[in-house]
Amino acid sequence: MSKMDLESSDASSEEYSPEPAAVPVSPIPQSQSSETSRTNLADDLAPELQPTAEQQVGVSEAVKATPSSGTTFKPYESVLKNFKGYRFHPDYPREVQGGYRSLTFSHQIDPNKELCRFEVARGVCNDSSCEYQHFRDMAVSDDALLLQMGLNGKPGTIAEYRQGLRDILQQMRNDGNLETEAVATRVAQYRRDFVQDRSNILGLI
Ligand SMILES: [Zn+2]
Repeated sequence: MSKMDLESSDASSEEYSPEPAAVPVSPIPQSQSSETSRTNLADDLAPELQPTAEQQVGVSEAVKATPSSGTTFKPYESVLKNFKGYRFHPDYPREVQGGYRSLTFSHQIDPNKELCRFEVARGVCNDSSCEYQHFRDMAVSDDALLLQMGLNGKPGTIAEYRQGLRDILQQMRNDGNLETEAVATRVAQYRRDFVQDRSNILGLI
């Protein structure tokens, strides 16, 4: 972006920034409105039609609370963290408390199938022929989780990658360390090494 562009975008953002001081808000103090109702008979006849001082203060609070655009900054949060593939990112174990078994990332939810309405209403579904989706079926077993991670994306279709994965599992089996979190951690590490790109979590290439 050139200096010229920066200047013009600054100018346009200023143009769209609301100016809080220019908003005309002047709440009527309680004492003044009650004094008015005492001296004006019409106000006493239909008090419910008069805005109370409380309501007016509420409006002015809302105006004050509106953030002016472009003045606050937040750390960048990648939308890619919403994909199951985030499990392959080196930050995953640190950032996701549930580990590789977290239901947010490791599940078998069918986005095209309706949720059971009894369960959505916090009830219990006792209908064994119910055709809808139930919470109890959303979690994956440890084996299915490791299979999901192992075969995910393009790398999972490459024979060399799959052979390497088999070798790792065999090695861990020999070491007597087949704890799911440990295997998942090793699978994620192996995949990062294989694709040689820590940020390539979707495995599309
Ligand atoms: Zn049901």
